[in-house]
Amino acid sequence: MLQKPLPIEISRLNPEDTDDRIKDARHTLREDLIILGHHYQRDEIIKWADYRGDSLRLSHLAAAHPEAKYIVFCGVHFMAESADILTTSDQVVILPNMSAGCSMADMANIAQVEDCWATLSTATDMSKVIPITYVNSTAALKAFVGRHEGACCTSSNAKRVVQWALERGDKLLFFPDQHLGRNTAVELGLHPEKDMLLWDPHKRFGSVSPEEIRAKRVLLWKGHCSVHGRFTTDQIAQARANYPGVNVIVHPECPLDVVEASDQNGSTEYIIRAISKASPGSVWAVGTEVNLVNRLAHEHPDKTIFCLDPVVCPCSTMYRVHPHYLLWVLESLVGGEIVNQVSVPIDIAADARLALDRMLLMK
Ligand code: SF4
Repeated sequence: MLQKPLPIEISRLNPEDTDDRIKDARHTLREDLIILGHHYQRDEIIKWADYRGDSLRLSHLAAAHPEAKYIVFCGVHFMAESADILTTSDQVVILPNMSAGCSMADMANIAQVEDCWATLSTATDMSKVIPITYVNSTAALKAFVGRHEGACCTSSNAKRVVQWALERGDKLLFFPDQHLGRNTAVELGLHPEKDMLLWDPHKRFGSVSPEEIRAKRVLLWKGHCSVHGRFTTDQIAQARANYPGVNVIVHPECPLDVVEASDQNGSTEYIIRAISKASPGSVWAVGTEVNLVNRLAHEHPDKTIFCLDPVVCPCSTMYRVHPHYLLWVLESLVGGEIVNQVSVPIDIAADARLALDRMLLMK
């Protein structure tokens, strides 16, 4: 996504002046505005958030506040799209920095998925293939899934959604995150090699054969999260050597061997809950984004909490939401100008909503 340069005057502001002006703009906009902050945002952004959460929780919160004219979503692009789909047409969703995308969501585009679907149809009966997209995907992919009788899933409900798909069809096509798809299917008793294949969108015929397509039940897209893909079993072994009795908890976007070597795995909200209710004195090695891990360590000084990878970078695209961008979008609103609106075309939004609603009905 293209982000136009910030006014020089804003980009040169020091942190204190930036904070003062964000505070003033927020005060002027009052109940017309809500600011949403994803858990992976830096602290300098999270402190301004009216609500923090994972992507879907934040979209629901936006929808639960129809009085808010402006929703400033401090997260990445696909999250702002979901918020736009779930809110009313009168509400405006704004992403402070348009270059805040998601490397995983970018690993599957609509042309590639349509090409995959057409190619699969030469080998198998597509009326028996249910497409599932992780919410970490573009609105166009959610719409594709909605049109083809599939559903979205989150890392919290992936097991339920994959189970639903397996009951409705012979096979499922899961994109864009191979790891969440594989980990979930293994949890449901499927075998990572015998029952699954990996579709490579950059190779001819996905680098699979028609026989394999016919034989496998779970067709995984070759995509991954650049943050969670960095965690390794060596890091887990090191944590166990350094801290005997440590609890290792990881996100299901991590590779299967990492999930299997951990003590627990679950969504961001699951990780937060597990650590928050743990006994004082307990020790936690966490395989997820480092801003969240550091915040948990700060909020629970009675526990030892550290990131599995001590040199892990934060999510670089989340990190693009700097306080200067937040200030710029807020002061623009105060001045009567809407900048960086994320707006999903009506036809795409309607089909994408089908996929989201199917998921929500599975509660
Ligand atoms: S942590 Fe991974 S999945 Fe989440 S926004 Fe960053 S790149 Fe995308």
